[in-house]
Amino acid sequence: LKSPYHGGHLEVIVGPMFSGKSEELIRRVGRALIARQRVQVFKPAIDDRYHAASVASHTGRVIAALPVSSTAQVRAHLTGEGALLETEGVTLPDVVAFDEAQFFDSGLVPLALELADAGVRVVLAGLDLDFRGEPFGVMPELLSRAESVEKLTAICVVCGAPATRTQRLIGGRPARRSDPVVLVGAAESYEARCRVHHVVED
Ligand code: ADP
Repeated sequence: LKSPYHGGHLEVIVGPMFSGKSEELIRRVGRALIARQRVQVFKPAIDDRYHAASVASHTGRVIAALPVSSTAQVRAHLTGEGALLETEGVTLPDVVAFDEAQFFDSGLVPLALELADAGVRVVLAGLDLDFRGEPFGVMPELLSRAESVEKLTAICVVCGAPATRTQRLIGGRPARRSDPVVLVGAAESYEARCRVHHVVED
């Protein structure tokens, strides 16, 4: 697949929930597979929204993905136990993709840079902002270091304008600023909203 970059590089895809990040990741990975490139997709093990070993968009398109609980596990999978990326005999994929990149630990940044330096096309999709509208985890640093950044928007469910925020609702009411970013087991839901209609309770 022709890339405008010489050798490895980072491509970041961000936006709120429902903005089509997974769709875009699946589109890029799908084209690489058509080009018969070697592709490996990773996703955080906590995101089992649809299928355990795949990435699915809200529209239902699916690709294979390996769930991992740390970047150390990604490294081990790519190299065989504990070896360095540049170890002789290690064949890296042409494309390594990460979905829900905001949930990875801070080791994702050095790993992504190492992969790019080793000639790999690294595609990372994730939320740029958490439900409070604050930069999410490793995403700011990935955005700064990427060769290519695509910011997608969803549609605000209140007014129909482009949505740049993810509204978190708990029992139908806007979540509080002090609520943890990851809340397991609560009756919560998310909506895409514009800046005007995004509400965070104090
Ligand atoms: P993301 O990975 O960014 O959460 P997905 O790729 O999983 O997004 O899903 C995007 C799809 O979600 C859109 O193509 C559309 O069909 C659907 N969708 C549902 N609600 C909305 C919304 N409020 N704005 C835009 N798309 C929406």
